[in-house]
Amino acid sequence: MREFEIIIENPTGLHARPAKTFVNIAKQFSSTIAVYHGERKANAKSLISMLTLGAEQGALIRVSADGDDEDDALAALEAAIRDGLGEEIAATEPQGAPAAGETAPVAAAAASVAAPAAPAVSPAPAAGDGAIKGIAAAPGIGIGPIFQLRAQTLTADDSGFAGVAAETERLERALAAARQELEQVAAQLAEQAPEEAAIFEVHGEILDDPDLLEAVHGNIALRQNAAAAWQAAIRDRAAQVAALDDELLAERAADLRDVGQRVLRHLLGATDGPLLPQEPAIVVAHDLSPSDTAALSGLSVLGFCTAAGGPTAHAAIIARALRLPAIVSAGERVLDLEDGVMAILDGTAGTLTVAPGEGVLAMARSRQKHWQQMQEAAATTAAQPARTTDGHHVEVVANIGGLKDAEAAAESGAEGVGLLRTEFLFLGRQTAPSEEEQAEVYRGIVAALGGRPVIVRTLDIGGDKPLPYIDLPHEANPFLGERGIRLCLARPELLRQQVRAILRAAEVGPVRIMFPMIADVAEWRQARQIVEEERAALGAPAVEMGIMIEIPSAALMADCFAPEVDFFSIGTNDLTQYTLAMDRMHPTLAAYSDGLHPAVLRLVARTVEAAHQHGKWVGICGELGADPVAVPILVGIGVDELSVSVPAVAPVKAQIRGLSRQAAQKLAGQALACATAAEVRALGAAALA
Ligand code: PEP
Ligand code: MG
Repeated sequence: MREFEIIIENPTGLHARPAKTFVNIAKQFSSTIAVYHGERKANAKSLISMLTLGAEQGALIRVSADGDDEDDALAALEAAIRDGLGEEIAATEPQGAPAAGETAPVAAAAASVAAPAAPAVSPAPAAGDGAIKGIAAAPGIGIGPIFQLRAQTLTADDSGFAGVAAETERLERALAAARQELEQVAAQLAEQAPEEAAIFEVHGEILDDPDLLEAVHGNIALRQNAAAAWQAAIRDRAAQVAALDDELLAERAADLRDVGQRVLRHLLGATDGPLLPQEPAIVVAHDLSPSDTAALSGLSVLGFCTAAGGPTAHAAIIARALRLPAIVSAGERVLDLEDGVMAILDGTAGTLTVAPGEGVLAMARSRQKHWQQMQEAAATTAAQPARTTDGHHVEVVANIGGLKDAEAAAESGAEGVGLLRTEFLFLGRQTAPSEEEQAEVYRGIVAALGGRPVIVRTLDIGGDKPLPYIDLPHEANPFLGERGIRLCLARPELLRQQVRAILRAAEVGPVRIMFPMIADVAEWRQARQIVEEERAALGAPAVEMGIMIEIPSAALMADCFAPEVDFFSIGTNDLTQYTLAMDRMHPTLAAYSDGLHPAVLRLVARTVEAAHQHGKWVGICGELGADPVAVPILVGIGVDELSVSVPAVAPVKAQIRGLSRQAAQKLAGQALACATAAEVRALGAAALA
């Protein structure tokens, strides 16, 4: 037997993806291979077993192999771990001390899944009379009866045992049937919801897990019938994984239970899963498993409301993919609602109004009609400019995060790009992208926009998103730490290199540069100076430069910035977070962190006023810009440009074409005089009706 010790450097430790790569390599060897982490031991050929190790970044693990090819196996595994197991890792020599900040990877992963991928998602407001409040997860309005999707947890009992051979055969048959189902579901979802499809592929791998299967066969050998044997093995592993007290692994435990139920259904001969709605209905559930959501995707569901979950939950992801309204995190009380009771699910406002009166129902129907008309009209008129009925043009541009988005933006009717988040180039790799590589990518994006202007935001990273090639201190409050422009000014070469790459891309088409997280005029001046120096060195032509207004101090000082900048773009996601002192990712506060709060709107208005006094323009690039309730108010305040996710471009343009600027200005005046976000939402919603 041979062994070696090594530190895991992967940013999220041995989580699903690197663990899967490790297992696939181990499986190529005949030796028995084990992995030890602290007190725990795992079978290197079992994904589930490897996950239960709970090896985070910085963990010291020991890998042992015993068999004919033990040397080759260990050499291959050691090389693969050093190589990052398919992920980019820091090139540092392993050291004994665990990496600082074990929780950081979880936060980073949560942030990355929450990256805005969906159109027009707005924070939930306070509810109106009698309405239940949740987090708005997918826009639109569903009106119809409540249908409670009650999870039917199947349980096997220990009675009956037909012999080892017969029970093994039953198990094989059930596994084969489940495997076939999973392949079908993955294929069915591949187009509309690729993220969900990938979940079912992982489920398929669980069915082949040798450690799990060994445990099931062991139980059968102990005279348990196949169903009871399977159930016991799954329960054990789900409990082990859940006990690791790790958010990401808790999701894996849910996956295990989901697969467990699927196979159990075949073993017990239960023909159906949970009772599904036969008529159009608003589906209410505690949370929706991937299997539930897949089963519901073919039915005439009017919308989803879940008691638990966040905007990144499966229910929310699939609702957006299917363009169904959804609210999440509405609380346990929604589970007490009776089946068949009429309700209005407002995925834009984040409310569920139960048993509405005739007047409220009529109003909701007209808003729903308006919403639908707008969606339809939007698709056919996407290329037309967004001009109000009284002739005022509002520029509608796209938020993008890479070349694919750029191509989609060009097709969407966007008049340009209002925010290119350049973080995608820097995350998940071992070394910083070179100037050449960056220039190449930016050039591709600018070319894809075919002459439309592209605003490139310089790197907005730090604190919550560690980069292995930058020595970042652990931050107690990452959102209040060395983030965005602060980090770039502290490491000017990083910024200089990016600026040179952007300036080189400006040869291909119109490019503007924007700096994130500016809190102080001095920061802006330093950043501008860096651009000017690099431009002079390259002999490149001038580019327009602006700043993001996403820190209250910048909004309050807009009159000092306005004479110096070319434009402002308001990042309402962060501006709301910093104005209301509510973490934008917070599981419970997020529902109250509403960009339509009058405090945020007043900062927007102040910025617009200062900019216009100096002949400068103002855009909005936070999620608020795509919120149908917010659009008329923002236009009324005088915002010149709305930068929204690609799928929201056409609907936002269509909505603006239906507005009168004069009416919008009146509405904005009223909104600015409101006392609470709920008042603004009620006002805005009434104006939409
Ligand atoms: C914002 O803060 O509103 C914004 C657009 O920037 P990001 O979401 O990338 O922080
Ligand atoms: Mg921001």
